[in-house]
Amino acid sequence: MNTITTHYIDGAFVESHGREVMDIVNPTNRIVIAQVTLADEDDARHAIAAAKRAFATFGRTKKEERAEILRRLHQAVSARIDDLTDVMVEEYGGTAAFSRLINEGGASVFLAAEKALKELPLTRSWGKTTVTLEPVGVAGLISPWNANAFFLCMKLASAVAAGCTAVMKPSELSALQTRVWLECVHEAKLPKGLCNVVTGRGDVVGAELVRNPDVAKISFTGSVAIGKSIMRDAAATMKRVTLELGGKSPNILLDDADLKKAIPDALVIGFLNSGQACAAGTRLLVPKSRLDEVKRAIIETMGSFPVGDPTDPKTAVGPMVTQKQYERVQSYIRKGIEEGAEVLVGGEGHPKGLEAGYFVKPTVFVNVKNDMTIAREEIFGPVLSVIAYENEEDAIRIANDTNFGLYAFVSGTDLQRARRVASQILAGRVAINGMLDDQQAPVGGFKHSGVGREFGTFGIEAFLEPRAILE
Ligand code: NAD
Repeated sequence: MNTITTHYIDGAFVESHGREVMDIVNPTNRIVIAQVTLADEDDARHAIAAAKRAFATFGRTKKEERAEILRRLHQAVSARIDDLTDVMVEEYGGTAAFSRLINEGGASVFLAAEKALKELPLTRSWGKTTVTLEPVGVAGLISPWNANAFFLCMKLASAVAAGCTAVMKPSELSALQTRVWLECVHEAKLPKGLCNVVTGRGDVVGAELVRNPDVAKISFTGSVAIGKSIMRDAAATMKRVTLELGGKSPNILLDDADLKKAIPDALVIGFLNSGQACAAGTRLLVPKSRLDEVKRAIIETMGSFPVGDPTDPKTAVGPMVTQKQYERVQSYIRKGIEEGAEVLVGGEGHPKGLEAGYFVKPTVFVNVKNDMTIAREEIFGPVLSVIAYENEEDAIRIANDTNFGLYAFVSGTDLQRARRVASQILAGRVAINGMLDDQQAPVGGFKHSGVGREFGTFGIEAFLEPRAILE
């Protein structure tokens, strides 16, 4: 069995001071595949001290030196896409297709950050005033399990581009992915102390990062509840915070949508990463006049979204990450039924033949009202709610009637109209006609979906502080 007993501090793998040992369980079959020794506050403090020492030099680097490091990271991660994909599939049951795609995205984010850095003016002057954008200091980067290696790449890329050094705290459920990713970082031969990684519990290592006065900035991706507590606790040391939190994203099907494309898209978007995705479009808003047609199209299309073995390249929905997550999804499916929504496909329990793992049935509810629990709360599983609307105005009202505002989707053939609708949605990203990405475009949330943005120049600016010199 794989055992991990080290963290990455000051450019080296060092034995954990923390003694707690945690099992890593393959969610496809519940078999223990590894044991990881978790970091404690002491490990976190060593990592912070290393990052602080490194910042004294790295904080003064020029754009080209940072660009060179970003290129090396791109190369090192690109060389290990297969390994990163395999370990993601094994450790959290991400489907092979999704895991490959997200790791390719992780590798390319370094080049995207390099391009953004080139375009971002770090010095501006007028008259006798000069403004420089200075790296904020040591950054604490905290990430969730649901696409761990990607978030590590995305956060490190922006921090490095800005000239910050980092202490990273990945989810403790992602220790194996983190290990492979760290081998890439080590291969990239970064300056010592630039990137330090301590895998431990959130309330131990994460809390130390948030509390420690030598950390200037927290960039966090995770749940709303933890995000709120970080924002509150970070105030004590006046840390800058970027929070990327949950979503309950609407997907508006306009009445001229081509269902042959829009329904497969809606299922891809709704069941993204087996539904364990902040970006998943889990509220499908459908014009009343086309509801029956949409229901038939969903039933017909479900065959192309098989649930099962995540190593099979054809699988669209894998297991939930843990027993706890399995139970959470079950409880929402039960709640949906109790509150009067109708199960169109799926429902409670394991899919037949998949009882050995944390598999749930990809589920589509119809007759959902936007005030039902399943339409308001983030389920983080493959559960899609179909909500009928009267007209365009009603669709926009329902889409915006949520505490969240991370992503939104609009499908329709009249692009002018789709754009008009998109421009009225309160969400950080609105994609027209499909699941789209652009690593220069900001990602982040309105309302309870977070504070600040990542990606591109927006992501780099989040690690910078302007200093004006006036003569
Ligand atoms: P989580 O909030 O439980 O944990 C996220 C990270 O925070 C983990 O590393 C965890 O150990 C750490 N943490 C926990 N308690 C902490 C504390 N007190 N102080 C500091 N750190 C602490 O979330 P999760 O279950 O790992 O991930 C799922 C959530 O992440 C979902 O809500 C999802 O929407 C969200 N998410 C958001 C985005 C985005 O870009 N907006 C992307 C992916 C996931």
